[in-house]
Amino acid sequence: AAKRDGTGVRAYSADLDEGQVERLVLLPDLRRALERDELDVFYQPKLDLAQGAVTSAEALVRWNHPTLGRLAPDVFIGLAESTGLIERLTHNVLAKALRQCREWQDAGLELSVAVNLSARNVGNPALPARVAAALAEAGVPAHRLTLEITESSVMRDPERALPVLRELEALGVALSLDDFGTGYSSLSYLQRLPVCEVKVDRSFVMGLEVADEARTSAALIRSITGLGASLGLRIVAEGVESAEVLEELRELGCDVIQGYHVGRPLPSAEFDAAVRVLNGV
Ligand code: C2E
Ligand code: CA
Ligand code: CA
Ligand code: CA
Repeated sequence: AAKRDGTGVRAYSADLDEGQVERLVLLPDLRRALERDELDVFYQPKLDLAQGAVTSAEALVRWNHPTLGRLAPDVFIGLAESTGLIERLTHNVLAKALRQCREWQDAGLELSVAVNLSARNVGNPALPARVAAALAEAGVPAHRLTLEITESSVMRDPERALPVLRELEALGVALSLDDFGTGYSSLSYLQRLPVCEVKVDRSFVMGLEVADEARTSAALIRSITGLGASLGLRIVAEGVESAEVLEELRELGCDVIQGYHVGRPLPSAEFDAAVRVLNGV
């Protein structure tokens, strides 16, 4: 938004929104970050209630920015998606997460790893071959990998996304539907997706503790776990911050619990130590 201000000096109108600022300031940095390997992967435990043990970990990316410090994904994932850098970012996170999974395997920790995909990844026909290559390179069996997708990323272009998802399923990779209940939430659509897990969106779990939302949140979660039971899906609740909510979710029929109450996302060494305590190994 360049303007002339009458003095011949170029001034800039202050109408850049936050997104544009991020774009201008962070884009060159993000490109460099991928080259210089400034991305770190943190791991958050997923607690299986039936087994009473952590059986999986979600990989969550962090950016160690040289001057801004550690940046959360909300700050740069959108930028990576809109510029196409998400392809490299996802591949980087996937490779690191699978390497980590292999280390757990070698150390006798039976853990699977879950990696988030964005819309562009899900619409890329080259994804299944890349995933297969990454699994082979790390020496991790496909069933140890879960890919978390969202309804909105599938709905952006279902004709492209569905064949990609079916190929991933055929590889033996598990698919999880993240942020469930926030998007189109077409329950019939769920049947068409080759997912084996559904993650109830954090907002409904948090709603359990809000006085005038508690009943509708509970009813909604119960309808999702009921559907899950009849379709043979594993139901994960995320954003669980207290023992009370964990117990309520157990009663509502959730299978897996994720949230600060079980464990925050941690760098791998700290995560390993925390899981050994939680699992008593
Ligand atoms: P998400 O996939 O829904 O991940 C869960 C987010 O909730 C994480 O935020 C996690 O730190 C946070 N969380 C977990 N437990 C709790 C809790 O008990 N309370 C609260 N308040 N929050 C909790 P994070 O790590 O900041 O990630 C935000 C989003 O960024 C993720 O949401 C995901 O959509 C995206 N993301 C993260 N890593 C990646 C990645 O490697 N690739 C892609 N494409 N997206 C990623
Ligand atoms: Ca996720
Ligand atoms: Ca989520
Ligand atoms: Ca989310």
